[in-house]
This record gives sequence, structure tokens and C-alpha cells, in this order.
Amino acid sequence: MLLKDEREALVEHSRRLRPDGLVVGTSGNLSVRAGDLVAVTPSGLDYDDLTPDLVCVCDMDGNVVDGELAPTSEMPMHLAVYRSTDHRAVVHTHSTAATVVSTLVDELPSVHYLVAMFGGPIRVAPYATFGTQRLADNTLAALADRAGCILGNHGTLTVGPGLPKAYTLNIYLEWLCEVWLRADAAGRPRILPAEEIELVRRKVATYGQTARAGAAS
Ligand code: 13P
Ligand code: ZN
Repeated sequence: MLLKDEREALVEHSRRLRPDGLVVGTSGNLSVRAGDLVAVTPSGLDYDDLTPDLVCVCDMDGNVVDGELAPTSEMPMHLAVYRSTDHRAVVHTHSTAATVVSTLVDELPSVHYLVAMFGGPIRVAPYATFGTQRLADNTLAALADRAGCILGNHGTLTVGPGLPKAYTLNIYLEWLCEVWLRADAAGRPRILPAEEIELVRRKVATYGQTARAGAAS
């Protein structure tokens, strides 16, 4: 089976989307790039019904190379990321707090240092109709030098060198949005200065087991 490991990873992460509160119904979509092929979730299919053989495999022009079902309607957005960056996985969700934030601001206020995980303050892409090249273009611009962005009046997009990282970042993004919404509802949150976010950005590069893993390899 073409891209067997990538298909299985997509199914495993798709099954977690609803329990993790990242989507409702069939909203959202995931993809993984391997060489010049992209394994991607089918459009409008219940995540509980997704099996490895139902995952679509497309080329870099969005043509289906393997699979019976139509790929996600957001193929232009996924392809825009892969054509212009080195990212290998894309996670698009409609998580609640991030979607609320997407209706309020042009950038998520940096109320917590963990925005540094994304490379800097998280931008909100201007709204465009789902599935359009305009949404893909707006998303790519908002994603510049970042590992994630918010899609205006729509949801989120996070990226990574693989699906586990892109997925985990999506959970962090939702949490950061929730924290800001609660803080803003409770009072006037203090915002961290850009210099502090930049300092933390450099520090998180060696956070956890990263340095040891690097030394071992
Ligand atoms: P698909 O079901 O086509 O992937 O679309 C869901 C979505 O989130 C559109 O923005
Ligand atoms: Zn969507």
C-alpha cells in the first residue's frame, strides 16, 4: 500500500480529533507529505469511519494518485504549505477557543510565553471562503516564520516536521487561545513584550530532551 505508515498515522490522529476537542463533526483535515506525495484525509468523512485504505494520496498538483474518495476541500491550503515550506505535516481544526479568537483579533495577544513555540506571536489570517485559493494564500502569509496560525472566522492551522508535532502544536494553540479568552474576560491581561517572546523562542529550542537527543544521534 502506497504511504502505509503515513496513512496509519493519519487514521490514528484523526480518531483523536473529536475526543481532544479539536473539531466537531467532520470539520478539519490532516495531511502528511512524503517525497512529492501527500496523504490526506477525505472530504466530509466521519473520522470514526476512516481506515488506512480510505486515506487519499495526492500528487503536488492535488491529483488523486491512490484512493476512491475525494480529498479534503482544503487541498489548496495543504498544497500551498508544502509547495512553499519544508513542513511535512499540516493539521487544520475548528477548535472552539481558537475559533472564538479568530472572530476577535488580528493577532493572538501574547499572554503566555508558550506562544514562542510557534516562533512568535500567532497571526490571524483574513477570512476567505473555505476550500479557496484565497484562503490558502491568506493562510500562507499568516504562517510566515511560524509553526501555526489562526484562520479568520474559521479555525486553526499548525505544521511540523511530522504529524505528532503538528498535532501537539494544535492542542497548545487551542490552550493558548483559551487562556487569553479567560484572562480577557476576567480583567485586563498583561501582555508579554516581543523581546521576551524572542528570548523564549531561542530557549525552547533546547527545552526538554532535545539537547540530549541531539547529543546521542
Ligand atoms: P473537509 O471535510 O473537506 O476536509 O472540510 C472540512 C473543513 O474544515 C473545511 O474548512
Ligand atoms: Zn475548516
